[in-house]
Amino acid sequence: MLNLSLKQLSQQLREKAFSSEELTRFFLDRIKKHNDRLNAFITINEEESLSMAKKADITIANGNQSLFTGIPIAQKDIFCADGWRTTCGSKMLENFVAPYNATVIQNFNDAGAINLGKTNMDEFAMGSSNETSYFGAVKNPWNLEYVPGGSSGGSASAVAARLAPAATGTDTGGSIRQPASLCGFTGLKPTYGLVSRYGMIAFASSLDQAGPMAPSAEDCAMMLNVMASHDIKDSTSLPHPKEDYMTSLGDSIDGLRIGIPKEFFGEGLDSEVQKIIEDAILEYQKMGAEIVDISLPNSELAIPVYYVIAPAEASSNLSRYDGVRYGYRTKEYDDLMDMYFKTRQEGFGDEVKRRILIGTYVLSAGYYDAYYLKAQKIRQLISNDFAQAFQKCDVIMGPSAPSAAFKAGEKKEDPLAMYLQDIYTISTNLAGLPAMSIPAGFTKDLPVGLQLIGNYFSEGHLLNVAHQFQLSTEWHRKIPKEID
Ligand code: GLN
Repeated sequence: MLNLSLKQLSQQLREKAFSSEELTRFFLDRIKKHNDRLNAFITINEEESLSMAKKADITIANGNQSLFTGIPIAQKDIFCADGWRTTCGSKMLENFVAPYNATVIQNFNDAGAINLGKTNMDEFAMGSSNETSYFGAVKNPWNLEYVPGGSSGGSASAVAARLAPAATGTDTGGSIRQPASLCGFTGLKPTYGLVSRYGMIAFASSLDQAGPMAPSAEDCAMMLNVMASHDIKDSTSLPHPKEDYMTSLGDSIDGLRIGIPKEFFGEGLDSEVQKIIEDAILEYQKMGAEIVDISLPNSELAIPVYYVIAPAEASSNLSRYDGVRYGYRTKEYDDLMDMYFKTRQEGFGDEVKRRILIGTYVLSAGYYDAYYLKAQKIRQLISNDFAQAFQKCDVIMGPSAPSAAFKAGEKKEDPLAMYLQDIYTISTNLAGLPAMSIPAGFTKDLPVGLQLIGNYFSEGHLLNVAHQFQLSTEWHRKIPKEID
C-alpha cells in the first residue's frame, strides 16, 4: 500500500485487494509509529477516520464508488472540518472545534475520501520552515535535522514519509511548492479562484490558494478534480467550467516552448541546485521541447511587494481573534481593552505579531499611498511581465527554492533570510498564476524541486508537462531511507 499511486489505490479498493478500513489503519499505524519523530500531524481522530472508512467500504460493496472512495487524505490544519479540532498552528485556536466543513473538505467527503488527520503548519501559514507552529517544529524525513519547508510542512513531511498517500496544502507565497521542493514530491498551486477558500482560515485573501501535495503529477491531477469547484460561498471563486485534469495526461509535449527567466538564475541560487534545474530542462529538450530566453524584469520586487500586501491583508483578517467570538481568551484581565491586549499578546506567536505590526503600519493613514497602494501598482507590473512572457512560451521553468532544505534553527532568528526562501514562488501568487514543483534531483542527499509556471487555467497542460517528466525519471518515487 505504501508505494501505490492514488489511481492504483482506487483500483485495488474496487477490486477488493484490501478494504478502505485496512488501508486507513495502515496509514494510521504509520502515523503512530513515526509522528513522534516527525511531528507532521497535530490531530488524528482514529475513530472518526475509521468510521468514514467503514462507510466507504459499504459504498464499495454496493458498487457505488467513485475514484476517491475509501482513499485516506491528510488535511492541512488550516481547513475547517466539522467536528475536528482546527488550529491553524496557533495557540489562538488550540481548542477550536470547527462547526462546519470548508468546501475543500466537503468536496473530499462528497467524493468518499477519508480524513486521515490534520497536519502541522506554520502559525496562520506564516513561515517557510514550519518552525513557527505553536505545536512545535516539523522535521524533514530526508534528514531529521533539516526543516521540511513551510508553511505546509506537516503535509509535506507526511507525504514524503508516506504517512499519507497524499495531502492538501495552501500556498500564499510558496507554501505548497517550497515544501514540495524541500521534501521531494509534487505540489500544485492552482490559478487563484479555481479552488474555493470557503472555510480555509484566511491569511492573505488575495493570495491564498489551496492545492494538492502528492508523490506524482498524476496524483495531483486526480486530487485537483475533487478540489476545484465553483463556490458561491467564496466571492473570489471563479465560474470556471469543471475539467477532468487527468484527460490531458499523455499528450505529446513535442514542440513545447519553455521560457527560462534570466532573473531566476542569478545571485542567491545554490550552484548545485542550478545544475539540477539545468539538467531537468535538458531532459525536456530531449523530449522535444524548445528553450526560449525570457525576462521577468520586475521579479526582484516580488518579495518587498508581498511583504507589504500579505501582512496588510493578514492584519485585517486576524483582527477577528479578539477573545470574544471564538478561540483563546486570556484568563485574567481588568477591562475589555485589557482583555483584547492580553488575549492577542498571549495567543499569537512572534512571526504573526510581526506581520500584524507591519500590516497595520502600511495600511495606516499617511502610509497607505506610499506602501500599500504602491505595492498594488507593482503587483500589476509583475502580472504584466508574465503576460508578455507567455506570448513567447507555453510554460516557464526554474528552481522552486534557492537551496535544498536548511538546518532547523538556521534562519529562525533572521526573518529576511527566511523570506528569501520564496523568491521564485511569490510572483506567481501576486499574479494569480498556477505553478508546480516537481522532484528533479538531489544535492547532499536532500531533494531539489523544479518549478513549472503556466498561464491562467492551464492546470491540465501543466500537470501533463510534469507527468511527461515523471514518465522518464524516477525522482518522484524516491522515499527517505530513515523512514521504513
Ligand atoms: N513563506 C511565505 C510567508 O511566510 C509564504 C507562506 C505561505 O505561502 N503560506 O508568508
